[in-house]
Amino acid sequence: MATITRFLETFEPSHYDVYIDVNRGTKEISGKSTITGVAHTKPVYIHQKNMEIESVQANGNDVPFTADNKTESIKIEVPEMGETTLAITYKAPLTDSMMGIYPSYYEVNGEKKELIGTQFETTFARQAFPCVDEPAAKAKFDLAIKFDEKPGETILANMPEVREENGVHYFDTTVRMSTYLIAFAFGDLQSKKTKTKSGVEVGVFSTKAHEPKELDFALDIAKRSIEFYEDFYQTPYPLPHSWQLALPDFSAGAMENWGLVTYREAYLLLDPDNTALDTKQLVATVISHELAHQWFGDLVTMQWWDDLWLNESFANMMEYVAIDAIEPDWNVWELFQTSDVPAALQRDATDGVQSVHVNVENPAEIDALFDSAIVYAKGARMLVMMRALVGDDALRKGLKNYFAAHQYGNAKGADLWNAVGDAAGMDVASIMNTWLEQPGYPLVTAKVVDGKLTLSQQQFFIGEGKDAGRSWKIPLNSNYDAAPKIFKDKEIVLGDYEQLRKKNGKPFRVNVGNNSHFIVKYDKTLLMDILDNLDTVDSISQMGILQDLRLLAEARQMSYAAVVPLLKRFANNHSTVVNAAIYRIAYNLRKFVTPNTDEEKALKALYGQLSTEQYERLDWMPKDGESIDDQLTRPTILNAALYAENPSAQAKAHKLFEENKNDLASLSADIRIFVLRNEVKNYGSQELITDLLEQYRQSTDPSYKSDLSVAITSTKDSKMISLLIEKFEDADTIKPQDLRAWFRGVLDNSAGEQAAWDWIRNDWDWLEKTVGGDMEFTTYITVVTSVFRTPERLAEFKAFFDPKINTPGLTREITMDKSIIETRVNLIQDEKAEINAAIKKVTE
Ligand SMILES: [Zn+2]
Repeated sequence: MATITRFLETFEPSHYDVYIDVNRGTKEISGKSTITGVAHTKPVYIHQKNMEIESVQANGNDVPFTADNKTESIKIEVPEMGETTLAITYKAPLTDSMMGIYPSYYEVNGEKKELIGTQFETTFARQAFPCVDEPAAKAKFDLAIKFDEKPGETILANMPEVREENGVHYFDTTVRMSTYLIAFAFGDLQSKKTKTKSGVEVGVFSTKAHEPKELDFALDIAKRSIEFYEDFYQTPYPLPHSWQLALPDFSAGAMENWGLVTYREAYLLLDPDNTALDTKQLVATVISHELAHQWFGDLVTMQWWDDLWLNESFANMMEYVAIDAIEPDWNVWELFQTSDVPAALQRDATDGVQSVHVNVENPAEIDALFDSAIVYAKGARMLVMMRALVGDDALRKGLKNYFAAHQYGNAKGADLWNAVGDAAGMDVASIMNTWLEQPGYPLVTAKVVDGKLTLSQQQFFIGEGKDAGRSWKIPLNSNYDAAPKIFKDKEIVLGDYEQLRKKNGKPFRVNVGNNSHFIVKYDKTLLMDILDNLDTVDSISQMGILQDLRLLAEARQMSYAAVVPLLKRFANNHSTVVNAAIYRIAYNLRKFVTPNTDEEKALKALYGQLSTEQYERLDWMPKDGESIDDQLTRPTILNAALYAENPSAQAKAHKLFEENKNDLASLSADIRIFVLRNEVKNYGSQELITDLLEQYRQSTDPSYKSDLSVAITSTKDSKMISLLIEKFEDADTIKPQDLRAWFRGVLDNSAGEQAAWDWIRNDWDWLEKTVGGDMEFTTYITVVTSVFRTPERLAEFKAFFDPKINTPGLTREITMDKSIIETRVNLIQDEKAEINAAIKKVTE
């Protein structure tokens, strides 16, 4: 079928009547999909996957058909082209893959229960009902669902239910929409509801394993996010309701199904009385991300998956725009600076990385497109750069026009650039395309040459990189007027440095605000000028300087040995972002030291030197009325103080454990993780670990569970490590969706590295069967890559993954990851001695 690229070219649907009967007992789905549309060819092709097709009719008459799982299709011999109604009856299995229609498993008071939900992005609607499963194949849907219903169960879908007849639930006709956004769910649910100012019904739903108060935070954020977007987009929310549903089993973070958004429980539910601020920020941004999609992605959808970034990059920016507007005190853009920005800069510096916009056809490769550091983080950074360039007025005007022109339809990247460009009176497309279509980003070198201040740009690589002569149109954001607004040449001379310095009265800087996707290498004169005047530099820019030094050191453009003595200049800064940047560098130094050596002792002394004063200032317990910066910095400092083996920090952690050992969950969530981990590491008996593991199994509080998994996996006891690895495949203890965090914890523990590595190699087939075919799968390889640092491990990595390199969806990841480990191995070999000497010197 090589000639057919898109099924939409053969059949263009306009309306579906979908009837689905789900039997949880027999794990079977049966149904009928009646599709009205236009046949453009003879035969036509409709998507299906793993179905048993019983009959196909065209305009009421049986017609010949062939179902094929390899091409995920039904070839239907329609008698003629033109207006046609297809009716397809089928059976399909209900599987545990977290894709298509699938069950979530949970317990309430020891009783095992199931909740049925759906996940159709990217190409899984075709497992639920025959359809033209492509984003451009928009149609209206009438959904009718029957199931082995018990009293008190609730069913939800994209639209409100209009009637129930003979146990069949009928839902209102949808607006014109894509198949991957269809959703429904049923089970024993609890809910809380409210209404927006404009009358949209907003609800939060969960299983009854949770306390009702855990729904409150999400309800408030969802309501205010929708109100914010209606105003910002100047376009009403298009549906009667917006349901948010937490599913116990969920592969990704959340999914923007139109009107029925689904979430991991950890990203929707939280205990309002004991949850750390950073967890609240994370949950709030996930909710506002999904709700941004209700317009951007759902109302206007990418034409094809190559423009996935158009959905994700945009929602990833808007999640911060929205939360910054509704919770201004949180300074949530700082979270963007400490999470998305470093992720994008690190990943995008490796040769072979994908560009934000990528061509794609094969379904297996569509899932591999979800490279979060690129499509989400870099894409968002690209749009933040655009927003800074055009301003909010033009952005909002452009968006309003964009929604009006493409609503209930599809769009491409160029449509967005044109809409915003027209509103701004600027050629946005020509600037943005240099970022969208090219992988990587520039290093801007600023130096004084023969007395002249000059700038040049060149692609930045960590590790081997083939310079393809790329250049970018860079919004410079300099604090000197002599620098151009957009730097597009390879090199420019700004003028006489002494004169410019005198005229401006402050050190020369570019990328002020760190909103543009590039890094800067200042020569010694310029860098020392900035460092000697740090008190005049805002915290985001101080963070930017540390971030750029770290990346330059990773890329061997300077040495960590030169960075180490600079750290203490920043160490007593009270800003969250500066501290995050300091300890990211300090963390990177750990790879140069061998555990239990004098080198490690010296590094711990450096951590002590950097953290002691702040530790004494902040101490363990949150204080009433303290600043947001202090709240968010404390965990970073406690982590550092414990690594430094600060005796007071260790003793207080142990005391807090003892005082709360009968109710550990009630320990303040801001510090709980450190108390638990300190206990396991320094006082961890086998009884303690088995007890914590049982608490993990029983707890329904996602943030406590996450703390427990970090603590438990830090054990040094080899018997306990073997026990944990046994639990990896026991879904009653560790759900497959949470396994990666456990695997990372054990692998990143020097006492567990070998066992975890052996496990993933031995049980790769199990892993592939359990979480393969899923956009999260490749991230297991990324986890391994993030830990390995010796030539032996590199060789083992190659021996294991090289034979898998042609697996669809894995090729890029394996290729990049080999290069990432190799770069790290070389860096350590070449610079270890010099860096450890530098650490020793500053701590003597
Ligand atoms: Zn998204």
